[in-house]
Amino acid sequence: MTSNQARRVFTAARVANEAVDGWLENHAVVTEGEKIDSIVPQGQLPSDITDTAEVFELGDVSLLPGLVDAHCHMHCSATLDSQELALTEDVPRLTMRAVTAMRRALLGGTTTLRDLGARNEVAFPVREAVRSGAIPGPRMLVAGTPITITAGHCWFFGTQADTTEQVVSAVRNQVRQGADVIKMMATGGNFTPTANPRRPQFSAETLAAAVQEAERSNVQIVAHTLAAQGVQNCVEAGIHQLIHGRWWSPEPNSGLDYRPDVVKRMVDQGQWLDPTIGHALLGEEARSEQGLPGPPVHWTVGTSGVGNTEHVETVKLMDEAGVRFTAGLDMGMVHAVHDLTGANAWAFVEWLGWSNWRAIHTATAGTAEGVRVGDIVGRIKPGMIADLAAFEGDPAQNIRDLKIASTVVQSGNVVKLNHRALV
Ligand SMILES: [Zn+2]
Repeated sequence: MTSNQARRVFTAARVANEAVDGWLENHAVVTEGEKIDSIVPQGQLPSDITDTAEVFELGDVSLLPGLVDAHCHMHCSATLDSQELALTEDVPRLTMRAVTAMRRALLGGTTTLRDLGARNEVAFPVREAVRSGAIPGPRMLVAGTPITITAGHCWFFGTQADTTEQVVSAVRNQVRQGADVIKMMATGGNFTPTANPRRPQFSAETLAAAVQEAERSNVQIVAHTLAAQGVQNCVEAGIHQLIHGRWWSPEPNSGLDYRPDVVKRMVDQGQWLDPTIGHALLGEEARSEQGLPGPPVHWTVGTSGVGNTEHVETVKLMDEAGVRFTAGLDMGMVHAVHDLTGANAWAFVEWLGWSNWRAIHTATAGTAEGVRVGDIVGRIKPGMIADLAAFEGDPAQNIRDLKIASTVVQSGNVVKLNHRALV
């Protein structure tokens, strides 16, 4: 990695404008130390620029703000045996897995990442190692262990808390450890044999107590929820952001139980949603391209799930109702590799019918706002942190061009140049 004291210039055929809704053609981004200094047409660069700055001519690429991903599990493997590994591996192995995954995320173009569930003994040391420059990785917002019930969703890397008092205590413990965000498991989930995804794990009252504790420490609080009643509990409790936001009804083999009145309240209260449909899209493609079996029958509930088509219909309804979305891949879950946050944008365009620019905006500035760092990253704008990701092709024309970045700049440092990793 080069030092970040320097003045650097990155030229590209296409540079995202400040609003992240259009290109500036043949422009140059000038960085000074870790910040963006200015954005100018290449023709206006002084003729002696190479004497005063290090110039990187990136050529026919699309230069975007570094991507922001709202949902990672740093020590999960993204392989078919992801659950088994998370259950059985010890802390040193999980830590090595996380270190590798965070480098991979950064080199893929994700320069800011929110981790929503990893063991405390892994999550906080890895974040500190990245911050100190000991290992490469994105700027990280970390939850540490998610809070779940005994035998509940992800108990094997979570804090198990059953009563309201225990939940409040668990929130305080995460704050003491240095959590940037609190993650609650409001329902069971598919990753956990003993956790019924169709039923709530906590009452609205218990979740509200957790929200109160998080807000006392000015920490964001988010909740995984797959069940309709779980969504309703999160909305009533004032959880800042809902993760997945699926509407499963409680009975096995039955469908969804979408509740428009709950969604209206979600919008009125300004609650965000991460629909995690990029993960669903990668799963569908892996199954059709590699002939892999569908998701397993859930261990506890003994039922097959609900197809993505039905879920996507409810995501569209929430979108139309005005719910704000972030882009989180659920990195580390099966098929959700740590360097492909762009798949969120693919799903927004291909499944929800969004414009390419709306998807690109959500993958950068929008998600930065949703995870509360929109004042420092997510846009190519003077004064912002110099986090940049270049992509070959033009994702405004073909959203699939938003894949693995060819060049990555983090805080003004070039960490990958023309497909070559420098860290
Ligand atoms: Zn997750």
